[in-house]
Amino acid sequence: MRAVVTGGAGFIGSHLVDRLVRTGWEVLAVDDLSGGRNPVPPGVELHHSTVQAAVPPGVPLDAVFHLAGKVGPVGVLRWAGQIVKDTVDAAAAAGEWALRAGCPLIDVSTSEVYGDPTGPNSEASPRVFQPGTSARMEYAVGKLAAETMLFNTDGLDVRVVRPFNVTGPRQLVDGGFVLPRFVRQALAGVPLTVYQPGSQRRAFTHVADIVDGILAVYQRGRSGEAYNLGRAENACTIRELADEVLAATGSRSRVSIVDPCDLHGAGFREAADKVPDATKARRELGWAPRWDRAAIVVDVVGYWQRSAAA
Ligand code: UDP
Repeated sequence: MRAVVTGGAGFIGSHLVDRLVRTGWEVLAVDDLSGGRNPVPPGVELHHSTVQAAVPPGVPLDAVFHLAGKVGPVGVLRWAGQIVKDTVDAAAAAGEWALRAGCPLIDVSTSEVYGDPTGPNSEASPRVFQPGTSARMEYAVGKLAAETMLFNTDGLDVRVVRPFNVTGPRQLVDGGFVLPRFVRQALAGVPLTVYQPGSQRRAFTHVADIVDGILAVYQRGRSGEAYNLGRAENACTIRELADEVLAATGSRSRVSIVDPCDLHGAGFREAADKVPDATKARRELGWAPRWDRAAIVVDVVGYWQRSAAA
C-alpha cells in the first residue's frame, strides 16, 4: 500500500506517517515545513514543497491524506490574506492527485467550520459565521470552501475529517495551542497564561486517537461524507486545564488571566466554545477514542520533560 501524506512533517501528519509506516505502508510526504519539521521515519521520502507546487506523484497510490495547511490561532496570523487561496489551491492539488490515481482523498478539515457555540456540533449542525474578517475566520472560510469544492468535484472519492482540539506530543507551541503552552510555562516556572475569562470550554483529543479516526475514515468511511473526530468526555474549562497541568507537573507557577490580544496583537480572535458530537464516527466507523484528559496531560508533560532533558 502506498500513500501521499501532505503536511507529513507537521503535528498530526507526522503521527499519521509513523503509524502508516509501522503498519507496512510506503509513504511519500509533502510539506512546506511552515508548521515545523518533525522527523520522518527511515524510508519515507519528504518533498519540501507546498502541495500546489509539488510534482504530482508519478506512482500508483492507494490513498491521499491531505493535512497540509497553516494552523493555530496564533500561527495563522502571519498568513492573513493568503489563507483562503493557499487552502483551496492545496486542496485542489491533493484532489487532482487522488483523481489521477483513482484512490480516496481524506481531507483533514476543521471543527472551526461550524462556528456555533450553542451546543455540541454534529455534522448536521449549521455553519455560523460571526461578523468580522479575522485570520481565524479566513481559516474557517478557506477550510469550508476547500471541503465544498472537493465534495463537488466530479468522480472524486473524498471523505472529510473534522477534528476538534487535537493535542499531544510534537504539537507546536508557536501555533498558540494551549496544552503545550501551559506545560512549557509550568515547567519553566512562569505564569500560565489563561485567556480571559477562563470559563471557555474545549474537548481535547489525543493525536493517537485522531490517527485512529483518520484511518477508520479511510477504511470504512463513505465518499461524500464528513466525520467529526473529538472526545466530548474530555471537555473542560481552560481554567480547569491550567490547574490540571499545575498538578501534573508539580509546578509552583501561578495562573494569570490575560487578554490574548495583549500577547498576540489585535488580529487575534478567540473561538466560541467547541464541543464535538462524534456519534457518527463512533457508530458508523467503530471509532473508539481511548485517551482521557488526565492521560493526555501526563503524556504531553512527559514529552516536554524529555525534550528539555535531551
Ligand atoms: N488558551 C489560553 N491560554 C493560552 C493559549 C490558549 O487560555 O496560552 C485558550 C484559548 O483561549 C482557547 C483554548 O485555550 O479557549 C484552546 O486554545 P487552542 O489554541 O489550543 O485551540 P482553539 O480551540 O482556540 O483552536
